[in-house]
Amino acid sequence: MKQYIQNYPDGLHTKVIAIPIFEDNYVYILTDDTKKAFIVDPGMADPVIEVIDQLGLEPNYLLITHSHNDHIGGVPKVIERFPKIKKIDFADCTQDAQSFQWNQRTFDVFKTPGHWPDHICFFEHQNKILFCGDILFRFGCGRIFDGTFEQLYQSLQKVKKLPGDTDVYCAHEYTKANLAFCLKQDLVKVGDIEADEMQKVNSVPSLPVPLSVEVKYNPFIKAESLEEFTRFRTLRNSFRYEK
Ligand SMILES: [Zn+2]
Repeated sequence: MKQYIQNYPDGLHTKVIAIPIFEDNYVYILTDDTKKAFIVDPGMADPVIEVIDQLGLEPNYLLITHSHNDHIGGVPKVIERFPKIKKIDFADCTQDAQSFQWNQRTFDVFKTPGHWPDHICFFEHQNKILFCGDILFRFGCGRIFDGTFEQLYQSLQKVKKLPGDTDVYCAHEYTKANLAFCLKQDLVKVGDIEADEMQKVNSVPSLPVPLSVEVKYNPFIKAESLEEFTRFRTLRNSFRYEK
């Protein structure tokens, strides 16, 4: 099964595994030496279970950023296979920036509506890891399906307050299409992107990305007003990417 592993140099050898599913989704698994693991947004179960079995992991948490099918389609099968797994989704997020503990770590759960009403993001403190689902992408942001421009703008402002060295894990590989849009609209210039960044942009996965890089280039999170954000998001809606 195809998978990409990002290692963190902490005492527990934390790693985040990205499993590509469908056309451009990523399911993420965060694990460490304890073999305990949590799964983020299993839109499909089989590839995820395959990786878990291959690595001998014992998943005990299932984190759901929002209830779109490409993020939750595999949930019933994952629960069937791991009946003791604890699912955390919007319904468990009774207050904003709620913290919970997992395996000697602290996670904050933020409410981030705009793309979909029950959207939440997960921020792990120790290694500064953010699972932001469908609200933020490289050079882009989520589409407004059921929400308002203001909600999504405010959600991105919330993310923007996290530390700059936060590793951002978006749920889709949309980097090339989003960059093409930004270049077309002159919101980003190729010459402004540093060479090592450009190399990452052209790789698969192009993630994770440090939040500071997105804050530097991404017009949607950079937008200084709701009006500006609304203009960019509206333009993006009518942009078609040709590969
Ligand atoms: Zn979605």
